[in-house]
Amino acid sequence: MPRGSEAYSKILRLVREHERWFADSLPMIASENVTSKRVREVLSSDLGHRYAEGWPGERVYAGCKYIDEVELLAIQMAKKLFKAEFVDVRPTSGVGANLAVYSAFTSPGDSMLALSIPNGGHISTGKREFSGSAGLVHGLEIEYFAFDKGEMNIDVDETKRRISKLHAEGKVVKMAMFGGSLFLFPHPVRELSEAVTEAGGLVCYDAAHVAGLVAGGQFQDPLREGAEVMTFSTHKTLFGPQGGAIASSLKLSEEIKKSVFPGTTSNHHLHSVAGKALAFAEFLKFGHAYARDVVNNAKALAEHLSELGEVVLGEKNGFTRSHQVALDVTKYGDGGAMERKLEEMNIIVNRQLIPGDLQAGRHYTNPGGVRLGVSELTRLGMRRNDMVDVAEIIHLGLSTERRREARRRIHELRAPFRTVKYSFGSSPAYFFR
Ligand SMILES: *Cc1c(COP(=O)(O)O)cnc(C)c1O
Repeated sequence: MPRGSEAYSKILRLVREHERWFADSLPMIASENVTSKRVREVLSSDLGHRYAEGWPGERVYAGCKYIDEVELLAIQMAKKLFKAEFVDVRPTSGVGANLAVYSAFTSPGDSMLALSIPNGGHISTGKREFSGSAGLVHGLEIEYFAFDKGEMNIDVDETKRRISKLHAEGKVVKMAMFGGSLFLFPHPVRELSEAVTEAGGLVCYDAAHVAGLVAGGQFQDPLREGAEVMTFSTHKTLFGPQGGAIASSLKLSEEIKKSVFPGTTSNHHLHSVAGKALAFAEFLKFGHAYARDVVNNAKALAEHLSELGEVVLGEKNGFTRSHQVALDVTKYGDGGAMERKLEEMNIIVNRQLIPGDLQAGRHYTNPGGVRLGVSELTRLGMRRNDMVDVAEIIHLGLSTERRREARRRIHELRAPFRTVKYSFGSSPAYFFR
């Protein structure tokens, strides 16, 4: 244990080193992105010392006159981005947003339809036995959407059969949660929402990953396709700091509000609310172009990787329509080993359970896949032609032991990409001193 003063300097040095490393890497974790300088500055403002609680204008604490205006602006802009009647920007994370929605509309013991984790589901929609938030924290029973591996999407007919069967068994499916973490193609919300509603369920959509693509008009539009509630993270394909939010119709707003506060949050991180507000303003201006460039980059990356001989999932449907590209890396070993090997080359990706892994005896530490995301590289300004280099470097990383060459190529490729694009004014990406 170092002395306080030593630890203090060491921590600052570690943070500086982290920034230096990421400035010289390929940051491709699909749930990550970078924020503009202004967003990062408001995160360190005095708002981060304050409490509000409650709704703007009806706060539990004094001192909120400015934050109230900021939060109302955040709400107003989010409503516009998602064409929603109601938005709550207080959840401090995507998981928190999901828990608030479960609490508002289900009771422990109810059933919820969601994707299994190897088919793209997230821990927050997972079963109790896997310590998933839905099962462990809220006591929901999880039933799975049927999934078609070839299509890399939910199987509509088979899922309808499952819903009828559950209904016949007397199990009430109280909620269906579309969306996921491995998320290549729009989900069949329109095709399934009637079946869910008829069985007495609420149609929800977890847009944690794809919210920016939804707002940018490049993915599906869940609230127009039958979803009544949409939860999302503000930092994956959106421009915000790490946080969550919920969008819905006005009809459901009172239940959501109560469930967010006092139900599942007390302090709602006011600096983060200001960051979300700035990010929504940036997205209103630049979101369309950004979302279009993200999807084009992901497609280009997938196509080049496939040409280089990598096994890219979703081939039948053109590999991807989101910010993600999924690789089956079993010909090299497993996703865990590839994640570590790529990290040594400064390529930051995450290992990924892919459909069929559990049947093949593979688990979370040694899954069959890796997941790549292009949201951050796109925000840093990379375009389709840069994806040729990115694909070559990833292929080099996976198929050879040439670590030095990979690092050198990344260093050269990253040199011109050191600012955050799609933002107001100039915005250096790395400025921590
Ligand atoms: C990332 C993710 C979440 C959680 O969001 P956090 O903001 O990390 O809490 C929820 N659902 C899905 C599908 C996700 O991928």
